[in-house]
Amino acid sequence: MRQDQYVIKTSFKQPIFCLNAVKNFSSMSFDDNISISPDGKIKDKSLISFMNPKHISALLRNYSRLKEDCYGKFYTDGYYMMEVLDELVDKTLKEKYPLYYSLLIYKIDGKSNLEIQKLLEEEHGIKHSVEYISSLWRNKIPKLIAEQAEIDFLYWYYLEKEKGKWKKCSRCGTVKLAHNKFFSKNNSSKDGFYSICK
Ligand SMILES: [Zn+2]
Repeated sequence: MRQDQYVIKTSFKQPIFCLNAVKNFSSMSFDDNISISPDGKIKDKSLISFMNPKHISALLRNYSRLKEDCYGKFYTDGYYMMEVLDELVDKTLKEKYPLYYSLLIYKIDGKSNLEIQKLLEEEHGIKHSVEYISSLWRNKIPKLIAEQAEIDFLYWYYLEKEKGKWKKCSRCGTVKLAHNKFFSKNNSSKDGFYSICK
């Protein structure tokens, strides 16, 4: 268990989620903006939250302009935010959802849904309707990214800020955080969760 936790710990860097009008990211504080209630619910009052799919969608739709705005402006909020976003996007999509990843790159590149439809078909052998491509871009992809941000935050929080409870899934054997995000609630069990992970 300890070793598992260590492996998890090293793969989760401290996430930066709150981006107030702070000029230097070293003076940023998370604690004021993000809190966790006793039942494990995250409350994020940040101006821009990576855990909010709408914010992710807005960042992605304005990606090129934002990236241009902060080009070379190291250590500013904007620069750091875009770096974290890039990392988060890669982590969420690159290996697990290669088609979504291509779609995102093409969208950021300013290609039309019709062009993207063609490119995805050539590249991945799947023909999606333009409506579906649009809905992936507007809903599914931002949702997946925000979800990953939430998972990253939970792991960081329960490894660095507060001692979390861990639980081994009785089906897949993976040690995960005993949290509603990973295990469904079950009032009749001792720890309040089902033994099989979501
Ligand atoms: Zn499992």
